[in-house]
Amino acid sequence: MKKLIVASGNQGKLREFRQILAPLGFEAVPQSEYNVPEADEPHLTFLENALEKARHASRMTGLPAMADDSGICVDALGGEPGIHSARYAGEPKSDERNNEKLLDALKNCVKRSAHYHCVIVYLRHAEDPEPVVAEGRWDGLILESPRGLGGFGYDPLFFDPVLGKTGAELDHEIKNRVSHRAKAMVDLMEKLRCS
Ligand code: IMP
Repeated sequence: MKKLIVASGNQGKLREFRQILAPLGFEAVPQSEYNVPEADEPHLTFLENALEKARHASRMTGLPAMADDSGICVDALGGEPGIHSARYAGEPKSDERNNEKLLDALKNCVKRSAHYHCVIVYLRHAEDPEPVVAEGRWDGLILESPRGLGGFGYDPLFFDPVLGKTGAELDHEIKNRVSHRAKAMVDLMEKLRCS
């Protein structure tokens, strides 16, 4: 198994990365195992933030690293919360308060379309001039009340009309096939194979 530092402390994401990467021969090691502190995310795009996080992890460990940046973009809110998804309702980060704020922002709004967006960056080393950049999106609708107990973040409100379930009602295996992160991982693996 090839070691790969994952620049994320989010347990939900780490679990998904492990499940997706293991069959591909990568051992996803969280940056916390190397005492790497969380990097800043000062930028305005998912791409720049992911690059910042991967470079930081690779620089501090001397190993290849990958990082993702993701969030939910709601059409009626002009793409918000977008890059602010994790802290939409402010500090400290809270999925529950984020979901309440989102429901409030969409009160009486009939346009409920949204998508999750994910960018993953893979760096062979901290100064890799050719980062591998992969992307994925997952389209759905924001419900008027939460449904389901699985997943994390906005999953209880995010409804996939094709599957007829929210992200929080889907089995891990299904979410790992249809999600923005899963699609970005497939994109990443294809790009890695060709590079
Ligand atoms: P990041 O950790 O900076 O990428 O922030 C991503 C934030 O977007 C998370 O904290 C969640 O609020 C939200 N998010 C991203 N992916 C998902 C998902 O698969 N389900 C639910 N929420 C997600």
